Amino acid sequence: MEKLYEGKAKILYLTDDPDVLLTHFKDDATAFNALKRGTIEDKGKMNCQITAALFQWLESLGILTHFIQQSAPDQMLVRRVKIIPIEVVVRNIAAGSLCKQTGLKEGQILPFPLVEFYFKNDELGDPLLTRDRLLILELATPEQLEQLQTLALSINQHLQEFFASCQITLVDFKLEFGVNSQGQILLADEISPDTCRLWDQTETDPQARVMDKDRFRRDLGEVETAYQQVQKRVLAKLASHKV
Ligand code: C5P
Repeated sequence: MEKLYEGKAKILYLTDDPDVLLTHFKDDATAFNALKRGTIEDKGKMNCQITAALFQWLESLGILTHFIQQSAPDQMLVRRVKIIPIEVVVRNIAAGSLCKQTGLKEGQILPFPLVEFYFKNDELGDPLLTRDRLLILELATPEQLEQLQTLALSINQHLQEFFASCQITLVDFKLEFGVNSQGQILLADEISPDTCRLWDQTETDPQARVMDKDRFRRDLGEVETAYQQVQKRVLAKLASHKV
């Protein structure tokens, strides 16, 4: 198959159908704009499975996604879209770069969900955008920006409730969107422990509760176990239809 694009965590291939791409999820892990590199055993399979399950579930709630079907444990078929070069981050609790940049204490609950837009540009280090910078760069139209904000908040509400039902706190996460040939905005990329901060509600220790890529970023160990635990709880909850 012809490779269309290789990113840090995934490879996109063309298929026989021009409207369909195949996404391969890699075990490679990177952090700090690829300054730190490693592998997480079976991460590709786990993230693919978690993303497939969550995207299907979001579709059932009326959120359009690029997901078509899982074609192998670490592969999924997706609709071809033009990716909007914006990383949409939603935060419910202060952590990560928000704490670094504002001095807010990690763990502080935010008074309302914070939606932020970052420029998806590795060379520039994915900088935080303002609304006007985003419009001047023509990364999205004002209407698309409005839609991204609304979609991000709606997805956050669904995911926050869902993860809480798995005894997991959704601290923050990153979404990417694409536009299809009809001009519709579809949720794309992935939702996984690579792209979310997830805290185990059954643990009180601030390090033990981490169930996401911060275990890799901060050398906390037991990265695979944490991802497996997220996968287990998410799949069990969705299988039980008690969401
Ligand atoms: O680093 P920061 O605190 O801004 O990250 C916010 C959230 O977005 C985290 O859940 C992180 O995993 C995710 N993120 C991501 N990809 C990036 C930047 C952030 O998945 N390039």
